Amino acid sequence: MQNHELAINGGPKAKKSPYGTGKRYLDKELEYLRDALEQNTLFYGYGKWVKRACAMMCEYSGMPYVVACSSGSAAVHLGLIAAGVGPGDEVIVTPNTDQGSVLGILEEGAVPVFTDPAMNLNPSAEDIEKRITEYTKAVVVVHLTGYAAPVDKIAELCTARGIGLVEDCAQSWGAKLNGKMVGSFGDAGCYSTNDYKHISTGDGGFVALRDESLYRRVSNYSDKHYDRLFDGSLRQKHHALNYRMGELQGAVAVAQLEKVDSITSRHHELGENLRSRLEGVPGVNVVSPLPDAECSYKWIIMQVKEDELSVDRKQVVSSLQAEGISCSSYDGYDLIRKRLFQERIVRPWMATREGRMYPFVQPDGRDYTYDIENTPNHKRAMEIGIVVTIDTFYTDADIEEVAAGIWKVLSAYAI
Ligand SMILES: *Cc1c(COP(=O)(O)O)cnc(C)c1O
Repeated sequence: MQNHELAINGGPKAKKSPYGTGKRYLDKELEYLRDALEQNTLFYGYGKWVKRACAMMCEYSGMPYVVACSSGSAAVHLGLIAAGVGPGDEVIVTPNTDQGSVLGILEEGAVPVFTDPAMNLNPSAEDIEKRITEYTKAVVVVHLTGYAAPVDKIAELCTARGIGLVEDCAQSWGAKLNGKMVGSFGDAGCYSTNDYKHISTGDGGFVALRDESLYRRVSNYSDKHYDRLFDGSLRQKHHALNYRMGELQGAVAVAQLEKVDSITSRHHELGENLRSRLEGVPGVNVVSPLPDAECSYKWIIMQVKEDELSVDRKQVVSSLQAEGISCSSYDGYDLIRKRLFQERIVRPWMATREGRMYPFVQPDGRDYTYDIENTPNHKRAMEIGIVVTIDTFYTDADIEEVAAGIWKVLSAYAI
């Protein structure tokens, strides 16, 4: 392979045809939306669509209770409510995730404590155990981009220590571990239906729960504590937010849930196809799912082996992009170096030192700072990762061309 054949040097592109595209919303969405409007109410308490979506989610998740809500961030927050998280608690969470995994922690006046994931980007029970203190109330396990985390081992640890377990499945619709759906290992499984996820209602989310009394707590916390689905005896007895899902989202959610299995199995198929075509590609390691997991790839992650390449990660990404491959550097997915965790200001308008820095500085004097050096694997993963996109509408020919382009670029740069 000669370098002048690379597209970045003026050669022909490996990705010869445009990526496959398609329509996410079809006749069923329209039909159910029309029905929702014809109900003459879009409030979940009176309509049938949000309730129907929750019933489908029970079946889907394998959990007995499901609450619909306004976003994945709300779902994680509600999961933390189920786990009993409150002011001053510590919650252990991975740093390679969306802000939505930690917003609920901060809202409750609790403190995120970052665990160092393994080099395959999975959180590990061993590292989580090291971060447990007398203040630890819960663990948030993020199943990243369709790769199931080893949540069975983490669940064992949490149970043994009496700590809550919240699963963030926002990016992992359809992912399974030991044949069991992620989201069904802990106290709460949290899902997002924002526009970037496997299925979408624009915005929206669900939290799947194991315990009936927690179901009432969470349902009420999402609905101004009206105790609406229960006997009414707890009506507005406590403080609560309004995280409700409306009937329009509910109607679209039902239509999307009817096809979620075909969507996620297509992601699985495309991802496996690409991964098998990349076996033996020089200069990179392709991150594999756990042996007992079924992965619903949103992206495939490759990690460059710098000592086997004549160029750096940035150059590899530019060259892959020049070939027409949809990919990017995996370096933005780092909560620790975000301003929120470096400057530690949640409420800038609160004047006192404790107020401004709360909850990072707790009234009892505990002062939490965030240093990337405390999570060395995570730091390293940020330096070497490349994200290759998988989309529902990609064709087998897309995968073939993407694989050919990756082989072309890495063979040219291999030393
Ligand atoms: C998208 C996402 C969220 C937040 O979901 P929203 O619906 O955007 O609030 C939380 N966690 C992870 C891992 C996500 O990818």
